[in-house]
Amino acid sequence: MNENIPFLDLITPHREMEDDFVAVFRDALRSGQFIGGPSVEKFEQEFASFCGTKHCIGVGSGTDALRFALIAAGIKLGDMVVTVPNTFIATTEAISQTGAVPEFIDIDEKTYNMDPGRLGEFLAKECREDAGRTVHIESGRIVAAVIPVHLYGQMADMDRIIELAERYRLVVIEDACQAHGAEYYSKRENRWMRAGTMGAAAAFSFYPGKNLGACGEAGAVTTNDESMTKMIKMIRDHGQAKKYYHDLEGYNGRLDAIQAGILRIKLQQLPKWTEQRKHHARRYNELLASVDGVIAPNEPDWSHAVYHLYVIRTQNRDALQSFLSQRNISTGLHYPVPLHRQKAYETARCYNGSLAVSERAAQKILSLPMYPGLADKQQLYTTENIKEFLSTSRT
Ligand SMILES: *Cc1c(COP(=O)(O)O)cnc(C)c1O
Repeated sequence: MNENIPFLDLITPHREMEDDFVAVFRDALRSGQFIGGPSVEKFEQEFASFCGTKHCIGVGSGTDALRFALIAAGIKLGDMVVTVPNTFIATTEAISQTGAVPEFIDIDEKTYNMDPGRLGEFLAKECREDAGRTVHIESGRIVAAVIPVHLYGQMADMDRIIELAERYRLVVIEDACQAHGAEYYSKRENRWMRAGTMGAAAAFSFYPGKNLGACGEAGAVTTNDESMTKMIKMIRDHGQAKKYYHDLEGYNGRLDAIQAGILRIKLQQLPKWTEQRKHHARRYNELLASVDGVIAPNEPDWSHAVYHLYVIRTQNRDALQSFLSQRNISTGLHYPVPLHRQKAYETARCYNGSLAVSERAAQKILSLPMYPGLADKQQLYTTENIKEFLSTSRT
């Protein structure tokens, strides 16, 4: 096979929708409605009903969604917000930009998401109760919130995280930026629940490469909370509920009408695209099942993952990646450096001991090509090359 296998494909899926997208742009030109308006409101209703929440607030990006959710949840200057080191930096940027301080909890070896056992240990051993709040002993900071990230489209173990959050009075904000439509079986609720419906609020990104992507920047917050909804609508629009009457300082963080119109069209395709991703994941699992030296993703029976990424683990990761690249197969690393090892956090103090699982994972993980239109023969070619690499590197 001499064609390139891209890591993702942002061209082909848009071809058949091109006329509809042009119509969205033409409507905007002819109505002069560029920011907000009926297409934003319709998308918000449609995405809320897709997730199963009462409300959805369209914003400028997934990062905006995280920032605004934290502010609306009442996170204050100097608070501590806990999350994982194995995520995109937007998660911790949002924490810092709200005035809070991020603290890291290690991940689970199998799901690559927050290890609830480690969260429990941190809260029990490193924190104490003070006047109804949980205070981190060494820094004296209030531990105000936890952000579980549903990374790769795989659910974090929400029951256990929510139980701890209730016991220690932390607000839960889900980072669902990679998990549109992923499902979690909640034993507390006795039903399957979608990503974005379990915390006080959740952040979604519609960055072009995400499972639901705009043709530009876009994001959304989902929540069942009426007052958070009102607050986030003000925050995204300079703190105003009425034009030029500012109840607070906000941001310029609105969703524009053209992106909302495009997202409405693409949302109709999302269930089909998600099925295709799941199909490709099952096929990769089959093709790699008998391959020694490759650990395929683990999907616990309480998770229906949506495979934003298909991430394997292997010893000689860097050599395998360059071998595949020579065979014109593009792969990715999500993420090569855990956040606590980034230069940006060089001077940050991390109190929570070992983050060894995250550090080990970062050395070994490799994201294989994954997108709805991935062909059977491309998957076969990819896995055959992985096998070839492993058999030659072993001898
Ligand atoms: C993409 C992403 C974000 C940020 O979304 P943007 O729309 O790029 O601002 C945040 N968290 C995670 C886990 C993401 O993958």
